[in-house]
Amino acid sequence: MIDVDVLVIGGGPAGLAAAIAAKDEGARVMLIEREARTGGILKQCIHDGFGLVRFREQLTGPEYAERFIKDFEDRDIESRTLCFVSRIEKQDRGLLLTVVSRKGVDKIRTESLILATGCRERTARQVFIHGTRPAGIFTAGAAQHYINILGQQPARRAVILGSGDIGLIMARRLTLEGAEVLGVYEAKPAPSGLSRNIQQCLKDFDIPLYLSSTVTRVFGEDRLKAVEICDVDNDMRPLEGSEKVVECDTLILSVGLIPENELARTLDITLDPRTGGPVCDGNLMTSVEGVFCCGNALHVNDLVDYVSESGECAGRSAAAYCRRESSDPSKAATVELHPGEGLHYLVPQHLDPEQGRSILYFRSSRVFGECSFVVKAGEREILRKKYPFLRPPEMERLEIDFGGYSVKPGSSVSFEVEEL
Ligand SMILES: Cc1cc2nc3c(=O)[nH]c(=O)nc-3n(C[C@H](O)[C@H](O)[C@H](O)COP(=O)(O)OP(=O)(O)OC[C@H]3O[C@@H](n4cnc5c(N)ncnc54)[C@H](O)[C@@H]3O)c2cc1C
Repeated sequence: MIDVDVLVIGGGPAGLAAAIAAKDEGARVMLIEREARTGGILKQCIHDGFGLVRFREQLTGPEYAERFIKDFEDRDIESRTLCFVSRIEKQDRGLLLTVVSRKGVDKIRTESLILATGCRERTARQVFIHGTRPAGIFTAGAAQHYINILGQQPARRAVILGSGDIGLIMARRLTLEGAEVLGVYEAKPAPSGLSRNIQQCLKDFDIPLYLSSTVTRVFGEDRLKAVEICDVDNDMRPLEGSEKVVECDTLILSVGLIPENELARTLDITLDPRTGGPVCDGNLMTSVEGVFCCGNALHVNDLVDYVSESGECAGRSAAAYCRRESSDPSKAATVELHPGEGLHYLVPQHLDPEQGRSILYFRSSRVFGECSFVVKAGEREILRKKYPFLRPPEMERLEIDFGGYSVKPGSSVSFEVEEL
């Protein structure tokens, strides 16, 4: 039986940062990762653009991960790779996990648990494309894995569905590897990816972006031969008569990411339908005492810098929990944070107003030009911050100390966007 204070599941940037922070706080830490190496999704992100906020440098994904892997290894934190959780049981205090790795079957008793399991991509099943099921239809992350990890080129003439960041990055990557990218098709009237990726991945390579259009059908038996494209209305319903057929051998899907939360479900953790991740407090503790969540498992982040930041918060909080410094979330005196008009989501969903400086992450529900972000405790306005614009693809981060605004535990605070 292995006995630890903090067990981290997932060895991506969130899990690595969490393990390092918990260890630095004096906790006995262990990390388990289902893949052969730590680093998470960053291992296959060989483009640059990582670490601009944290290191003020343009690092590639593996370079960014390497900094944390080195810090992790320098601390001699125990870890298992190729390791899977096969059973998880709540105990009076703490949890008992059964894990399987090349070392065999282990039982791990842990005082607290950090879920840092990242997210997964939506597939063709979730976007209802009609037709046959030929080879040549990949999620953007799978195509990236083929090219950047396995050294294989999966496409000659590609259509990309969805203008999320991974799709944009793959449009450029496929072009650099000699494929012809015929266009990126996006059902929404505005792109889903970061503005910098629209410029650097599409405009710089003359790759067309078609908004308010989607793929409705695929053709081909063994291999994809063509796709049917349709314009869509404001409710993203295909418009009859707008169909056109585009010949291609590859369809890349970049239609969204979903936090990976099977373990959270097993533990009956309350999930937020807006984020797809657990509801958590200002210490990133979930609705189950002693279980924390961070990174893309909590909500899908656009920048890895904030993933590491949330990992550090979860790691410190888990270590403090083991020292009995934070309590059962169901008993804590918290304020509820409500995303109102103009907000898609807000994390955390509740917090202790006395905890001091809190970091909030949020996304707007639509594109706003110049606008105010307004925070109200009941009818009382406590904060107003101007933004030149807010766009759903760009996650925002705000630091706020509710103690300074005399917000009482048990009350609720609402957040709204007002167009100016
Ligand atoms: C294509 C792409 C391009 C990106 N570009 C940028 C960029 O330019 N700049 C930027 O800042 N950010 C970028 N990002 C975002 C950033 O890389 C991610 O936000 C970040 O890697 C998420 O970290 P994470 O640790 O939460 O998840 P991940 O990196 O996904 O790590 C999760 C880890 O948990 C493991 N795991 C999952 N379930 C289990 C389990 N049950 N048991 C054991 N292990 C498990 C997984 O194997 C994985 O290693 C990009 C992301 C992608 C996909």
